[in-house]
Amino acid sequence: METKSKFLKVKCSDCGNEQTIFDRTNTKVSCNVCGSTIALPMGGKAEIKGEIVRRIDNDL
Ligand SMILES: [Zn+2]
Repeated sequence: METKSKFLKVKCSDCGNEQTIFDRTNTKVSCNVCGSTIALPMGGKAEIKGEIVRRIDNDL
């Protein structure tokens, strides 16, 4: 069972900027460069609009 929070590195589909976001965001996440929507809150888990480059496990 996965209960840990994760960070995702997501690439903006419009400009290619890579940005690290929280996978359980409850606010809309926009690209820092072009302002395009990268993730939307979907009942606790984010719906990723860009391309997920990789997952970053937060268990250090
Ligand atoms: Zn962008």
